[in-house]
Amino acid sequence: MSEVEAPPSAPIVVNDPVQVADGVHVVPDGRVPLVPNVGIVVGSRAALVVDTGMGPRNGATVRGHAEQLAGGRPLLLTLTHFHPEHGYGAQAFEPGAFIVYNRAQRDELRAKGTPYLEMFRTFGDGVAGELEGVELVEPHAVYDGAADLELGGTGAELRTFGLAHTRGDQVVFLREQRVLFTGDLVESRCFAIFPWFPPDDVDVDGDRWIAVLEQLEALEPEVVVPGHGELGGVEVITTAREYLEGLRDDTRRLAAEGASEDETAAELDRSLRARHPDWAQPEWIAFGARCFYAAYARERR
Ligand SMILES: [Zn+2]
Repeated sequence: MSEVEAPPSAPIVVNDPVQVADGVHVVPDGRVPLVPNVGIVVGSRAALVVDTGMGPRNGATVRGHAEQLAGGRPLLLTLTHFHPEHGYGAQAFEPGAFIVYNRAQRDELRAKGTPYLEMFRTFGDGVAGELEGVELVEPHAVYDGAADLELGGTGAELRTFGLAHTRGDQVVFLREQRVLFTGDLVESRCFAIFPWFPPDDVDVDGDRWIAVLEQLEALEPEVVVPGHGELGGVEVITTAREYLEGLRDDTRRLAAEGASEDETAAELDRSLRARHPDWAQPEWIAFGARCFYAAYARERR
């Protein structure tokens, strides 16, 4: 008897929000590909939404949840980074919500928003359908480095670190509740996503990414909301960092032994799939290996 694989679920936000701390809600991704974990933080004066899901329909679903939880309080929207499944539902928040991005993220959206839309449309009818009618949305405000939002009884710290998973990754830290939204800097039971597409797009840096994760661990969050996958404690970040460090070290070892880039990618694809059989999206292993290989080759020149 042959095994029958279930078809991949459509990239639709279907879950209801779950409260994870006082005033902090997460719409869990349900481990559906191209659905992110979405945050809704409700203070006494305003509510903040973190990521929208992909496309206007998912954006409207998230806005509906946010309005219900906000109970008439004004909405703010911010995104962890420009990638389509995280931010291409922002149009559903206009008019009405105040939208904040960091500057690098805004610039990256301007530079790559349309090419990424075209790329994602090739990912199948389900994805293309959700992207129907997408408009790229400019923020009402941009910031550099750090911005603190006061929601009334709760603050939200927006922080950026420069190039890592993208040019403009942003985390949202709720210091009182010790909740950290990481975007795709951290995934749970899912291989790190390396959008390493040379020569067109090489805006990912594994070494800087590791250093960022060390900084996030130092925040000592009690609840980590990864870009994709289950919530957990700080160990979710540690696992992600140790994976990146292993990928880096193994890549450098193989390269130093004389393996080609293709040989290195193939070997690590094999060994890391075997090491993490229950992790999703193993196709990203090779992209990560190639990214670290290129960094090693640059150093040797
Ligand atoms: Zn991403």
